[in-house]
Amino acid sequence: ACTAAVTPAVAAAPPAYRDATRPVADRVDDLMARMSLQDKIGQMTQAERLAADPGTAAAAGIGSILSGGGSAPTPNTAEAWADMYDAYQRATIATPLGIPIIYGVDAVHGHNNVHGATIFPHNIGLGATNDPELVERIGRATAEEVAGTGIDWDFAPCLCVARNDRWGRTYESFGETPERPAAMASAVTGLQGSTLDGPASVLATAKHYVGDGGTTGGDDQGNTEIDEAELRAVHLPPFQAAIERGVGSVMISYSSWNGVKMHTGDYLINDVLKGELGFTGFVVSDWQAIDKIDGQEGFTADEVRDSVNAGLDMIMVPNEYQKFMDLLRAEVEAGRVPMERIDDANRRILTKKFELGLFERPFTDRSLTGTVGSTEHRELAREAVRESQVLLKNDGNVLPLAKDGGKIFVAGKNADDIGNQSGGWTISWQGSSGPITPGTTILQGIQQAVSSGTEVTYDRNGKGIDGSYRAAIAVVGETPYAEGEGDRPEGMGLDEEDQATLARLQESGVPVIVVTVSGRPLDVAADLPNWDALLAAWLPGTEGAGVADVLFGDHDPTGTLPMTWMAGADQQPINDGDGQKPLFPYGYGLTY
Ligand code: BGC
Repeated sequence: ACTAAVTPAVAAAPPAYRDATRPVADRVDDLMARMSLQDKIGQMTQAERLAADPGTAAAAGIGSILSGGGSAPTPNTAEAWADMYDAYQRATIATPLGIPIIYGVDAVHGHNNVHGATIFPHNIGLGATNDPELVERIGRATAEEVAGTGIDWDFAPCLCVARNDRWGRTYESFGETPERPAAMASAVTGLQGSTLDGPASVLATAKHYVGDGGTTGGDDQGNTEIDEAELRAVHLPPFQAAIERGVGSVMISYSSWNGVKMHTGDYLINDVLKGELGFTGFVVSDWQAIDKIDGQEGFTADEVRDSVNAGLDMIMVPNEYQKFMDLLRAEVEAGRVPMERIDDANRRILTKKFELGLFERPFTDRSLTGTVGSTEHRELAREAVRESQVLLKNDGNVLPLAKDGGKIFVAGKNADDIGNQSGGWTISWQGSSGPITPGTTILQGIQQAVSSGTEVTYDRNGKGIDGSYRAAIAVVGETPYAEGEGDRPEGMGLDEEDQATLARLQESGVPVIVVTVSGRPLDVAADLPNWDALLAAWLPGTEGAGVADVLFGDHDPTGTLPMTWMAGADQQPINDGDGQKPLFPYGYGLTY
């Protein structure tokens, strides 16, 4: 009988970089030895998902994809995100070297681009809690939701030290002195977990390095005009803390330091961050930030060269990735960007890709997808809301309110609006008013808190109030904005609608409890005498019940001001210990 000789196929040994038992450094070396210059430039390139679909990204050899503010798949569900993410990985791992992409999003207060995700308070509120352990747990929960949609990398936490409340990104700051932002670098530990290759670990980003919150006039993307001693004393400590916690990436600030764009800040990036502070992760640019170096539209070879030579490892291009790759290649070939710089960038980026376990597990862990917006995470968010409330005035102990009996009137444009109470970076980049994602409004929280015998009447503008109510709660303040759009070079007081609402309530003679929903302290000194109580709720996110927990005394207020509260807009900038007389000092907060 004829039996075919069976020659055992000598399976070609897999390349060393695929061997998960080897040390990461060896795997990186092995992989880099197989990479062309073009492959390496690809790893340094980050494109927006709308500019490069999976097939295009793989063909171009792009190493990283991001969703820019609010850029979500359709439908905007956790499952659709995971499918989209997996499609990128499927395409890129099918390329000859099969290097997975790393996908980044701005999950800056929960996984805020995803409809139905848990939206936590913005950083200003978390700063008010002064509770790094809570912030770490929020980081964990956020990481679960982010990983549940496949995403590997979060452009958070923002460790800015906001020194001027006119700045539109003040709410992304944990506080005006370095202490709270440095303590809240615990978010890094939460996001990254105990080990980066854990199933629910995502790479964190300390941003925006450095001095973003110190610009003159509070101008977004402006110029930070301070000497090196002050830069180091005020703005550097949070980054130091993040590096001690092993943060995997650092994003460079759009701002300038004494006229030099941070994106060309060779001394602060190469010498201080990577040298002195010993940062071993990778440095990413901000969105289209290299375009802005010379003040002209678009980017040039000079801007590509200067930023990469300054120590930028990855450029968030995010659209003209082909042009970027061509220019960088030409700069390297001409000897103007040293090959060692390209290799250093690749070593840093690939190390994180290996550490994240992307080569072993490139696809979404679908067992985590159900954590998006889970009851457990919403409970945690409610706890954070409770802890972030800062009680600033409470005449005659009008708070806490009794749950039983009588009638309560609720008013104000931010009383019944999930979008308003969530602020910017929620579903869309700038955020927006309205029922943009599921949650509990502050009004709903109040309605749930009172006993059945208590009647709650709501009118947005306070119409219909009379003396028969035992208290009026006015939820007023700001409406959503994000970077750029939020700068307030003029006044910082309440708008006309809020003023009119408050006037109606005040005329009724009923005790008026004001709750401010805002991304910064507001200029309310002139209004304050008319109010019985003032509670700063910041931007609480989707769990408005946490505000009611404090109003009705289920939780005593424990939050304290992470920022000095101005007595007038002319006091900007105002910071702890600078000698001005504020309305409420840094660290202030009453309790019951
Ligand atoms: C912001 C960053 C953000 C990036 C990506 C930029 O405009 O300044 O904070 O991470 O966009 O969305």
